[in-house]
Amino acid sequence: MPAVLNINKTTFKPGSSGSVKIDIADLPSGTKIDLPVHVFSSAKEGPVLLVCAGLHGDEVNGIEIVRRSLVKQFYDNLLCGSVVVMPLINIYGFINFSREVPDGKDVNRSFPGSKKGSLAAQVAYVLSKTIFPQIDYAIDFHTGGRSRYNYPQIRYTIDDERSKALAVAFGAPVMLGNHVIEKSFRQEAIKQGKSTIVFEGGESLRYDGFSIEVALQGIKNVMHHLNMIDLEQASDLIPSQNFVKSTWQRAESSGLFIWEKSSGLFVRQDELLGSIHDPHNNYQIDVKAARDGYILGHNNATVVNQGDALFHLAW
Ligand SMILES: [Zn+2]
Repeated sequence: MPAVLNINKTTFKPGSSGSVKIDIADLPSGTKIDLPVHVFSSAKEGPVLLVCAGLHGDEVNGIEIVRRSLVKQFYDNLLCGSVVVMPLINIYGFINFSREVPDGKDVNRSFPGSKKGSLAAQVAYVLSKTIFPQIDYAIDFHTGGRSRYNYPQIRYTIDDERSKALAVAFGAPVMLGNHVIEKSFRQEAIKQGKSTIVFEGGESLRYDGFSIEVALQGIKNVMHHLNMIDLEQASDLIPSQNFVKSTWQRAESSGLFIWEKSSGLFVRQDELLGSIHDPHNNYQIDVKAARDGYILGHNNATVVNQGDALFHLAW
């Protein structure tokens, strides 16, 4: 990638670091909204890595991971290359405690976006047009849905060996190879030739210390893999469990839900995972594993409706 980064008319030459703001749409109150981008550059040329979060505004673990990477000064003494850091992309969702932007559109289903499209499309366009062309690698940090916990995991694109190598380097407990979602960040970044992985950990609007710690180590592991930092411990990594298929097991009935097994465990077919009860104790429905698998995610909701996703099983 070019040694000089250019973001919103601000130029970052090798060795220069700083922050720049990209104008995006103002709030209805007239309050100005701009999107901060932090750039850290070594004097020596090398790879350009994007570390970003908050495409979904309520996914606080991702946002906190990237914020903490700034606090811990991960990027201050790079051996080569540059890191572009964006802790919070969907500011509109963040201030509304919402995954989407205010019109209900999902930024991560709006790529490549357009300058005159919906708000979600405008936010996506900033990344597709301004950021992606200048990077080589991307790590996009996410969090599970509301009450749906994700065991810390890296998702990579199943037929993209370069992204898989990045996933292995990250060293999360679990890797899931899957196909890209249409109009997603990952689809557009890969289309532009960038190796891209997605981290998932914890549930929205709730911190998960375990996921945050795994992810912070993962950022360092990737930077070490790209020779951007020197990390003594990287060789001691425990290899990730790698899965390529997964499915959500759903509630067969509505009621009070109590799980017995949670994320991060291997289970056998027919093993008891939890139970669903009505409030008057007229019925109890046992939830049993539909197949042998590994629990990638589970639902922490106390009350569920028939059809709700309960356990994400991978194999
Ligand atoms: Zn997300």
